[in-house]
Amino acid sequence: MAKVARTRVGKPDAAGRKRPRRGAPITVPPSAEAPPPNSHAPLHRDLLGWFKRAGRDLPWRQGRDPYRTWISEVMLQQTQVDRVVDYFHRFLERFPDVRRLAAAPEADVLRAWEGLGYYRRARQLHAAAKRIVADHGGQLPASVASLRGLPGIGRYTAGAIAAIAFDLPEPIVEANSRRVLARLAGHGAPVGGSSGDEPIWGIAAEYLPAHAPSAWNQALMDLGAMICTPRGPLCTRCPVAAHCVAHATGRVASIPAAAKRRTSVELEETALVVRRGGKVLVVQRGAGEWWEGLWDFPRLAAPRILEPLGLSRRRVVGRCSYSVTHHRVAVTILCCTAAHAGPRGASTMWVEWMGLADLAMTAPGRRIAAIAGAGSEQADSAPPPRRRVGRNLPGRRRPAGR
Ligand code: SF4
Repeated sequence: MAKVARTRVGKPDAAGRKRPRRGAPITVPPSAEAPPPNSHAPLHRDLLGWFKRAGRDLPWRQGRDPYRTWISEVMLQQTQVDRVVDYFHRFLERFPDVRRLAAAPEADVLRAWEGLGYYRRARQLHAAAKRIVADHGGQLPASVASLRGLPGIGRYTAGAIAAIAFDLPEPIVEANSRRVLARLAGHGAPVGGSSGDEPIWGIAAEYLPAHAPSAWNQALMDLGAMICTPRGPLCTRCPVAAHCVAHATGRVASIPAAAKRRTSVELEETALVVRRGGKVLVVQRGAGEWWEGLWDFPRLAAPRILEPLGLSRRRVVGRCSYSVTHHRVAVTILCCTAAHAGPRGASTMWVEWMGLADLAMTAPGRRIAAIAGAGSEQADSAPPPRRRVGRNLPGRRRPAGR
């Protein structure tokens, strides 16, 4: 912080004001018109200058449309930038504005989201669109408090929309900016999670330039994606190396410190591919389950659905596995034949094998269908057309760097 010289004062004058002593240096006190120099101004200049020259040209950065920013930020929370670009274009073609998104059936939104994983976010996006139409006249609100009142919009997403689309002075902490800020400030404590990130939010707020919050936040993300990468950051080419504490103190490799990882839980389950008269049984994932609202093959642990069907000719056709949150699930795939259709229900359905391609299915469901189709001797059992299936599954954290 800049030192302020003290003025030696003499006796008060008639009005009671203290006068400078004779011979004392005259100092000009800081005033509202001339704020104290911002100690981060050189950092702002260097990073914003680099961003202007080298920032990424991304489709959601064309103009400042809060809807586009919102959609892109939600998609980017689970998927790398390269993959999001295609999804973003397709989603915007299908739902070009909030009103069209709000008016669409949820199944259509989930279908458009398929492959991005983390379907709860798609459902919340849809619910938020309805609220924006009902409560905000179809316009995203321009305040963090109002944005955070919408389904699925938390601290990060609200800050990102406010800063990037509305240019409000809001800090943002995500995978890239977290790493850059920790290194710039030489913050050696573990980051991630609400307690680990709290100091980073403070650093983000301290560094934030009030005159360019949109460009600044995007510049931090781009620097983290292109230069200040998790491993092997390009410090020799970094535009802000002169301001970086981790670089100056030789601690780049150890910052940010990794947070303790949750130990993974191993699970096993048996999926049933039940056929009857050329059709196959699918069930919809219920409230509170992973992939809520998407279709999948029933699991053996669902006797209420399976017992009335009179299953026979069971045989194992393959195995697969998937990861979700901190669980690793091994799946045995069993094919069988049903004697009866069973009771009709809103969450169960018999579909043509090829019709699976048009369903919003879970990622494991797609994998099971491919294995069961390949392992079947029936002519109608060819694998359904492959759809783009994401590698990122519900609950999996976005990989560092976007
Ligand atoms: S000098 Fe190195 S560690 Fe520091 S911000 Fe630049 S790339 Fe990151």
